[in-house]
Amino acid sequence: MKNAITLQGILFDEKSSYKQGPALAPPLIRQAYQSDSANYYTENGMELRPELFKDWGDFEIESYFDIEKITSRNLLKDQPLITLGGDHSITFPILKAINAVYGPVQILHIDAHGDLYHDFEGDPYSHACPFARIMENKLATRLVQVGIRTLSTHQRAQAEKFNVEIVEMKEYHLNKIPGFESPIYLSLDMDALDPAFAPGVSHHEPGGLSTRQVLDIIQQINVPIIAADIVEYNPNRDINDMTAMVSAKFLKEIAAKILENNTLKPS
Ligand code: MN
Ligand code: MN
Repeated sequence: MKNAITLQGILFDEKSSYKQGPALAPPLIRQAYQSDSANYYTENGMELRPELFKDWGDFEIESYFDIEKITSRNLLKDQPLITLGGDHSITFPILKAINAVYGPVQILHIDAHGDLYHDFEGDPYSHACPFARIMENKLATRLVQVGIRTLSTHQRAQAEKFNVEIVEMKEYHLNKIPGFESPIYLSLDMDALDPAFAPGVSHHEPGGLSTRQVLDIIQQINVPIIAADIVEYNPNRDINDMTAMVSAKFLKEIAAKILENNTLKPS
């Protein structure tokens, strides 16, 4: 299969509250995916070669709000999109572009953090805020969060206000993740993983998911995936490209899941 999945890289980390670096990630995730150290086979037996992707390449971002325009331009009709980030702030403008084509979606969000702050240090578009903006703007009919282990009192109140369904890390089990009835947007923050598995992130939050547990979550999805992002990989913090390789593995497995599940029609 050729060009079945659209791919874009968003070189942007200006909304990171603590450390820069995720803007460097997209080319390094591609490089890990194409590395001779592994073949192109996914766990469900598909050979996922680069020709599968309609790859628009990486985009330098001048203004945060350009991310929506660039995504709208790159989003092809009837075709799923995977975005390589970038910090997590990019998910809000990406979802605005998705919303214009598909309407509101259900979201599966895997993260150590709820990213539900009304604003963070005065910035409503901080990478700590995208899911508050998404819910306020009614870009999602449902938000399911998995792996969360840092909820502040404010974020718990926000979660209640927006009816967010949260599987907190302290009570995590694969079969606690609620099922979906319609196509989803998958947002994967690499810091959902325990730092032992993915040291290349800005915010090391111990006690997280293993690589295997995230793969199991992806492989359990049984509805089409409209679009997905892999965000917050910070190469400046990585050790021996470990986190690049984990990100590339997720790219492959998400793409395989899309090919397995999708028969997409825009609304
Ligand atoms: Mn996040
Ligand atoms: Mn996070």
